Amino acid sequence: MARHRRHARALAVLSTAALAAALVPVLGGVGATRAEATSTAFAPRLVTVDTPTRADKERLQALGLDLTEHAGHDYVEVVLHHAADLTALETAGFGFDVRIPDLLRREAENNRANAAYAAATDVSPLPSGRTSYRTLADYGDDMAELAEDRPRVARTFTLERPSLDGRPVRAIEIAGDVRARNDGRPTFALLGVHHAREWPSGELAMEFAVDLVKGYGRSARITDLLDRARVVVVPVVNVDGFDLSRTDGALVDLREVDGGGTATILGTPGNAYKRKNCRVVDGQDTPDGTCRAASLSSPGGFGTGVDLNRNYGGFWGGPGASETFADPTYRGPEAFSEPEILNVRDLVSSRQVTTLISNHTFSNLVLRPNGVHPETIGHDGLPVGDAPDEEALKRLGARMTAQNGYRNIHGWELYDTTGTTEDWSYNATGGFGYTFEIGPDEFHPPFPEVIDEYLGAGEHAGKGNREAYLIALEHAAANASHGRIVGSAPRGATLRVEKTFRTPTWEGSVRDHLESVYSSRGGRFTWHVNPSTRPVSEPRTVETVEEFTTRSQTYDGGAIPPNESVDHAFTLTAEDVAAGADSLEVTLEWPTPDDLDLEVYRRQGDQLVEVATSGNAPGEKEQAEVTDPVAGDYVLRVTNFASVTPEYTLTADVLDQRVTGTQTVPGTIERWTLTCEKRGRVLQTLQVRVDRGGISRVDLGACARRF
Ligand SMILES: [Zn+2]
Repeated sequence: MARHRRHARALAVLSTAALAAALVPVLGGVGATRAEATSTAFAPRLVTVDTPTRADKERLQALGLDLTEHAGHDYVEVVLHHAADLTALETAGFGFDVRIPDLLRREAENNRANAAYAAATDVSPLPSGRTSYRTLADYGDDMAELAEDRPRVARTFTLERPSLDGRPVRAIEIAGDVRARNDGRPTFALLGVHHAREWPSGELAMEFAVDLVKGYGRSARITDLLDRARVVVVPVVNVDGFDLSRTDGALVDLREVDGGGTATILGTPGNAYKRKNCRVVDGQDTPDGTCRAASLSSPGGFGTGVDLNRNYGGFWGGPGASETFADPTYRGPEAFSEPEILNVRDLVSSRQVTTLISNHTFSNLVLRPNGVHPETIGHDGLPVGDAPDEEALKRLGARMTAQNGYRNIHGWELYDTTGTTEDWSYNATGGFGYTFEIGPDEFHPPFPEVIDEYLGAGEHAGKGNREAYLIALEHAAANASHGRIVGSAPRGATLRVEKTFRTPTWEGSVRDHLESVYSSRGGRFTWHVNPSTRPVSEPRTVETVEEFTTRSQTYDGGAIPPNESVDHAFTLTAEDVAAGADSLEVTLEWPTPDDLDLEVYRRQGDQLVEVATSGNAPGEKEQAEVTDPVAGDYVLRVTNFASVTPEYTLTADVLDQRVTGTQTVPGTIERWTLTCEKRGRVLQTLQVRVDRGGISRVDLGACARRF
């Protein structure tokens, strides 16, 4: 019955959006209008869902539930916000274990632990000495203080666009002689809190900023790195969402301390576990300051908003992101629709960001591109494959995970995603990009865990993410990670490199423009830039895989009474597997358009475990596929949901995929357009090819003569 779920979701979207629109003008305050607490309210909970195959993960994603970034090869952890989420999971036949039965109760426990830690501790071992999570205001204050204390090393700036709710998005830039702008140094970008509830992702970014500012001039290693590279830290990208999550998270504690009791906590529609941004009505800007009130229409705070880490242009609109507004992974109506993401895009497009890390929680992972399985057919009708820099990306990932103890994997090994930060940043700029999933098991755990994640604990004591970030910064500064343009330019000349191109989305493309500037101080210069040819334009080798049917079994079925089902037995033999059974494909066909459903189970002892299900619209042919099937007994179950009772044909095919050839897809060599300018007047234009690790010498003699 999985297919009926989509319909229910679509209705939910309409009602959420309509309710939100109605709420905006009338609600002034918050407290009085909160839903009345009842002891029967559904407690939001964290569950571990069994997903033994990739197909199961895809099926789970299609339910539109709130998937965490914690997943293994056979499970995904999911937040259930409403009773309807639980029903959806159960109806789809997934097995699951409850890991945190009541997230708001857990929130209250964490808050108590945090209060106890802060009360017992004057100064933590963190660079800032902080003993508790920052609020949004704390981030602004801390950045301002760093710039005030050491103005030659740190400066703050505000990204171009305010958030949807009208808040400034602040950043800090750190470098030796930070005020010497446009001096050709490469940039390391460290981003936090795309997802509202992932508080440690901002804390670790901010602590690294404090570490660097304090370390300049004191640590030889940090001083050297900051003389060779710039660091830009945006600790909170999603300022609206974070503020809601952070302040509602604290509210839970107040009610608990206030003796509110279990019912109060259970009934609190808080935003502590909000994921997305403050888009209240899709495609519309709502008045500043209305997000909190509007979020009341979305208990748990996850229904409204765009998933900022699915809104980037790279492969936007592909697998692993939803087109449904209420869904947790809603990608937005178009690529780069959200101001928070346009901010990051502008930042990365206007500098040479040679390495980028986007922090998230949780799962102890370092994820590298690509976000989809290499066999997935991409925008050009060919398998997406691995990133052309796979070996180097993996090597740097391994050096970082040796410090923090995380797993070093591709994005798709978590589950398929598209439109994420590095899907775009890596493919558009060539600068290496990673997602860090910080911490073992919670979105915002007790604060001492943040300290352990930053400084390292146990066998990683003294390493941790601090050391991983330093390695990333070393990579950003290293000549091997990017290209260099060298030459001589007249004093006072402005050199500009730019490139305009189409970045592939899943079904089309978006226009992208990179442009950055070097201000000549006269004489020889070295300008650190990303390679001129983008990864998506590199040549690649694609394997041609053909599918062969090694065995086929057909069943003719008669009429089935409505709401009843018939089982057919199928055995996958050891010989089938030895012959290379890559998948078992079961197809159900019948002459009249009707509503038959197909489920495939494997017999385990005396139990039937569902291994595949079809999910087509009524009237379409049903097909279910078990990938990498194991030998054993299977049950092919045909269920009739409609009143007419047709006859049908069921076919089980054992399929073997064989590589029958390789094909080289030619690449395109791309070049930067370099101009040499005097007060806005272009005196010379050059096309510059520069490769990763390479040097391109340019002759700006014409510019010098005309200058
Ligand atoms: Zn996240």
